[in-house]
Amino acid sequence: MSARREQMLFEMGLAPLWRLRAPGRAAGSDESRDPASNQAAIEPAKPSPRASATVQPGHDTQGDASGRRAEIMRMDWSALKETVASCRDCPLHAKRNKTVFGVGDENADWMFIGEGPGADEDAQGDPFVGQAGKLLDNMLAAVELKRGENVYIANIVKCRPPGNRNPQPDEALKCEPYLQRQIELIKPRLIVALGRVAALNLLARDASIASLRGKVLEYKGTPLIVTYHPAYLLRNLPDKAKAWEDLCFAVKTMQTLQTAHSAPI
Ligand code: URA
Repeated sequence: MSARREQMLFEMGLAPLWRLRAPGRAAGSDESRDPASNQAAIEPAKPSPRASATVQPGHDTQGDASGRRAEIMRMDWSALKETVASCRDCPLHAKRNKTVFGVGDENADWMFIGEGPGADEDAQGDPFVGQAGKLLDNMLAAVELKRGENVYIANIVKCRPPGNRNPQPDEALKCEPYLQRQIELIKPRLIVALGRVAALNLLARDASIASLRGKVLEYKGTPLIVTYHPAYLLRNLPDKAKAWEDLCFAVKTMQTLQTAHSAPI
């Protein structure tokens, strides 16, 4: 680990926990408690009664929704960006300053998905640029990842929910085709859902973060791992250790996915 990275981890209050160990060896001495030691097999999302705070990807209920979705699914990057920038399809457009499309490498292996823009993101038009974003950047740095380099960052909704409330189900539902199209265009090897709102909307499944951690789930065939939202971690420092376990698990899963992809048939 470089001195700069060690210093950063120390300043974040993450050292000595946030250390990437050799592949195959996870952080923490008790392997039975370590999600990174779980088998990296994909666990299909189990259908469950739809939660009130979730959307069912691909199953809009409004009459014109399937036409709108089909149109979005045909868009290239520039059409998608333009459409999002002028979107007025849910009430969130009324109070936004800027839409927050997403940022990063459009061919990334890694995709991190949060909940929705806050005040800083609404002002700047980029995701995770406030305090939570700083922590996210440091979490990425701890596993030798960097925003924009093989990493793409987006949110469940592209406009700020007033007062940083959770996005309403209808708002998330309207925005979901945009995110689905981004995922289709990027084709990430792995999605990391940041927090419960992101997880519930992507999985269309009501469950606690605790029950979703340490498993390889999926969003429409793309492997997906769940961890805590950086804003939650800022308020709940002890859970940073669990988030570190999740990141180690994600790194190990990515290695497995890359190996599987490059293995001769
Ligand atoms: N929280 C999120 O979920 N997304 C952002 O972009 C910023 C804060």
